[in-house]
Amino acid sequence: MDYDIIIIGAGPGGYETAVEAANRGLKVAVVERDLPGGTCLNRGCIPTKALCHCAEVLSTVNSAAEWGISGCENATADYSIAARHKDTVVEQLRQGVRSLLATPGIELIEGEASFTESGDPHAVTVGDRLITAKRVIIATGSAPKELPIPGAELAISSDEALQLTSLPESMCIIGGGVIGMEFAGIFAAYGVQVTVVEFCKEILPPFDKDVAKRLRTAMQKRGVKFQLQAAVTAIEDGKSGERIVRYDLKGKSCEIAADTVLMAVGRRPVLPKGLESVGVETVRGAIVVNDRMRTTVPEIYAIGDVNARCMLAHVATAQGSIALNDIMDCEPDCDLDIVPSAVFTHPELAMVGLTEEQCKAQGLDVTVKKGFFRSNGKALAMGQTDGIVKMIVDNDDSQIVGCHICGPHASDLIQEVVTLMANYDTVHGLANAIHGHPTLSEAVLSVARQFD
Ligand code: FAD
Repeated sequence: MDYDIIIIGAGPGGYETAVEAANRGLKVAVVERDLPGGTCLNRGCIPTKALCHCAEVLSTVNSAAEWGISGCENATADYSIAARHKDTVVEQLRQGVRSLLATPGIELIEGEASFTESGDPHAVTVGDRLITAKRVIIATGSAPKELPIPGAELAISSDEALQLTSLPESMCIIGGGVIGMEFAGIFAAYGVQVTVVEFCKEILPPFDKDVAKRLRTAMQKRGVKFQLQAAVTAIEDGKSGERIVRYDLKGKSCEIAADTVLMAVGRRPVLPKGLESVGVETVRGAIVVNDRMRTTVPEIYAIGDVNARCMLAHVATAQGSIALNDIMDCEPDCDLDIVPSAVFTHPELAMVGLTEEQCKAQGLDVTVKKGFFRSNGKALAMGQTDGIVKMIVDNDDSQIVGCHICGPHASDLIQEVVTLMANYDTVHGLANAIHGHPTLSEAVLSVARQFD
């Protein structure tokens, strides 16, 4: 065998696993057909967060008029500068990934990897080169999904939305999930008239309903329009170059006209060619894996978006670590049930564990407590009082089963709860720990103390 492991794809699943494997003494080949860093760095987490930050700065400047700072009313900004900031951040991190992939023990091979027709699970071709390894890890990620409707090709995807250097006057975003909401926040801050069309009763279906509603209300105040429970049926060309989005609203046919339509209805796994010949099983386009990330072929593992278990960058990395431990006959060192997720809007949303609705559906004996940022000194001082912390605790063992935050720095605040849950500590562990004052973390603390 040429290598201990071949990893197909250099996204956060692939490159992080490669570095960990090399640091543990293995010889690794990483095959990447595009830019290192994958979706996360080039078309996902990082570019959107750079733009989210620019949007937040602009919103903050706009609200600064309240503080008597003149010249801030209706402040506008040149979007091309935000786009440049995004590109600079991405390029800088790309250099970082390239140097990580230069770790001794890793060979980066540029090109598209395919399995061979022979069905050998140890063999992969890249162009006219055949390489072999004891194990192969598939980390080929995902691509934007399209609704199967007439005119779907008239919409842009998140990939194309990130390429815009100037903005349309109006935009219809199909899908009120995480990606749709982040783009809605970014574009609305830059003055685009945004309408979000969502199929479900509330935006962000996997999130706690109270928390999601709070974000929707905050975004409505910033001028974003929402059309919930709307099933998009077609996209058409309008008479003056605009797009017409047709949708069904409880049996009634409706339409919205917008300059640009962004389709943000989720992502689909990307499979390497030749997967059928090696016999790897897929279900609804995703590779089937067990809890150790093994596919139905013992020599082949699949991590990250390609197995569609949970399409988040940090999950791809964690799954890579689980696969590597399995390959090296070690126990996994992380728990995939305790995964934070966040929406980087203004205010931010973050969650870990179960929602109140899921606890009810599972018949769990839990207590739910809430606290609000309006009574937190630091949030008041920052003028960012819109927000809630909701904590759900198991009545038997006092362990936190879920936490949901909408408010400033929610994506950072959730991490304290994640650490507690990952260590199977009780809510009292959080309540008894001294928290600095005045900090936003006291908003989480005050809810934990309600369980004393
Ligand atoms: P990817 O990052 O998709 O990488 C797969 C790599 O495999 C790609 O580089 C691809 O070119 C390569 N590849 C595919 N097929 C082949 C082949 N046959 N041969 C060689 N190479 C191949 N997640 C978060 O956790 N936080 C966020 O804030 C966040 N924001 C997002 C915003 C947007 C707009 C999008 C689209 C996604 C966001 N995500 C976010 C999701 C996150 O980007 C993905 O979950 C993550 O990138 C998945 O990592 P991966 O390693 O599985 O795959």
